[in-house]
Amino acid sequence: MRLQGKTVLITAAGQGIGRASALACAREGARVFATDINPDTLASLKAEAPSIETGLLDVRDTNQITRYVAGLPALQGLFNCAGFVHHGGILDCAEADWDFSFDLNVKAMYRMIRAVLPAMLEDMKASGRAASILNMASMASSLKGFPNRFVYCASKGAVIGLTKAIAADYAKLGLRCNALCPGTVDTPSLRGRIAAAADPVQAEKDFIARQPMGRLATVDDIAPQVVFLLSDESKFVTGQAVVVDGGVLI
Ligand code: NAD
Repeated sequence: MRLQGKTVLITAAGQGIGRASALACAREGARVFATDINPDTLASLKAEAPSIETGLLDVRDTNQITRYVAGLPALQGLFNCAGFVHHGGILDCAEADWDFSFDLNVKAMYRMIRAVLPAMLEDMKASGRAASILNMASMASSLKGFPNRFVYCASKGAVIGLTKAIAADYAKLGLRCNALCPGTVDTPSLRGRIAAAADPVQAEKDFIARQPMGRLATVDDIAPQVVFLLSDESKFVTGQAVVVDGGVLI
């Protein structure tokens, strides 16, 4: 199994890509700590995969993170998946919207990495085990601008910068850090964005039309990349913005 012997923490694992990733990592032999702010989705994840250890964790709350991480063994994998899609351009983005998106999409990663990194590095030194951090970015980021994704693109671009900086600082120690950049993925929040559009049928057609492969990604198109980037199979890959977009950026 590709993640045997590794302990992995995933944020926003109650639904969507985080949940599929938690299930995939558990199937590959990892000890998985799956966290979210939604107790109901965590309960259903636990029912589906009892070996997964679930925990309530708000990645916007530094004290909660400190307490939660203090109770964990050293990690060999961290997948910072939590993020929010704000709809609109700069004139639709009030300062509070900007602050919220940067807090959840970027600063939460700073909080999580600062909390887990010391024990991760100690464990690498003591046991020789490799470790990998994966941060959720998007094709909508510094890689490409999309209409009505102003603060989303800005914040996900910052995720790529944060990722490269950490990769540069720790490459010599063997700690890897990459960003994942999916195309449009069929998840509960995407369904919410489609339902909130003035014409939901047209909105879904528009999302599909920008995908050269003619379909949305499923979470199962993305989870194998998460397994790969957390596993030692990707041991020579660091500082990358790994694009899984069905060809949008061709
Ligand atoms: P989603 O948006 O459907 O679910 C988000 C999850 O995050 C929920 O379980 C929610 O409870 C949790 N969450 C919200 N606030 C939280 C907080 N403060 N602390 C912890 N958890 C919190 O999931 P998704 O669509 O799979 O998106 C997951 C990530 O993937 C996001 O970072 C998103 O930006 C990114 N992404 C999504 C797509 C897409 O098309 N769905 C494409 C590219 C990137």
